[in-house]
Amino acid sequence: MDWLQIEDPRFRACVLPNAPLVTLGEGYAWLEGPVWFADQDCLLVSDLPNDRILRWSEDGGVSVFRRPSGFANGHTRDRQGRLVGCSHQHRCVTRTELDGRITVLADRYRGRRLNAPNDVVCRSDGTIWFSDPHYGINTDYEGGKQTPELPPTLYRLDPETGRLSVAADDFEGPNGLAFSPDERLLYVSETGPQFDADARRAIRVFDVADDGALSGGRVFHTVSPGYADGFRVDEDGNLWTSAGDGVHCIAPDGTLLGAIRTGCTVSNLTFGGRNRSRLFICASHTLLAVYTNQRGAARP
Ligand code: MG
Repeated sequence: MDWLQIEDPRFRACVLPNAPLVTLGEGYAWLEGPVWFADQDCLLVSDLPNDRILRWSEDGGVSVFRRPSGFANGHTRDRQGRLVGCSHQHRCVTRTELDGRITVLADRYRGRRLNAPNDVVCRSDGTIWFSDPHYGINTDYEGGKQTPELPPTLYRLDPETGRLSVAADDFEGPNGLAFSPDERLLYVSETGPQFDADARRAIRVFDVADDGALSGGRVFHTVSPGYADGFRVDEDGNLWTSAGDGVHCIAPDGTLLGAIRTGCTVSNLTFGGRNRSRLFICASHTLLAVYTNQRGAARP
């Protein structure tokens, strides 16, 4: 298949050359933040500049789930299955309760407003981790120009106590994040200052202690072309990351295994569908999907 690129023999067992790369919807402004709801057999995904969250299902196709969305970006689900998401415009992380109410989980750190939460994941202990770069308030296109009050930071939130703490602050632009299946590692993309052509852009990896403390932070892999925005980990610990030409699959040792070439920039992706083996891909203005031979890690 011309869209499948094998870089390492190990990748042959990860993909299905006879499975089609299909278009589920197209014509969007910019897709971001996909999250799978297995119990409802549907995908939610942000159409960020259009200030809406879309819903896709096999039977119903694409419909509008929420508009306005506060210029929603990244999404995940917490241990109770509730939708947790990032709002650029309102500069906060929210949780959608089971009755539909929306609770603001975090919008300030030490009295100062967050910048524009970008991506979010939950750890099995219930803590919620999110990146807070400046991107979402740098332009009117993705949330409205506003003045940053805090440096770009990676935060950890305990939703039980409301305690928000800095997980790591040596970033110029923390972006996507994902835990390894055993939660001993945390991958974070560093995408640098938005308008800097020579920004340092790489996926970094931190060691995670039992109490959630991070250490290390070395460069794990540098994506080319383009850079890594969001990514997900499969059951075997391979990292499936967005890139400038599609989705790249990186082995736990940092080796590029192969790629799914979409011919355009991918911002984010997630596993879902039957057995969490279908990859849903935010390919710029188009929503794509392909079945793989890997299953996404149980915790997205
Ligand atoms: Mg992002």
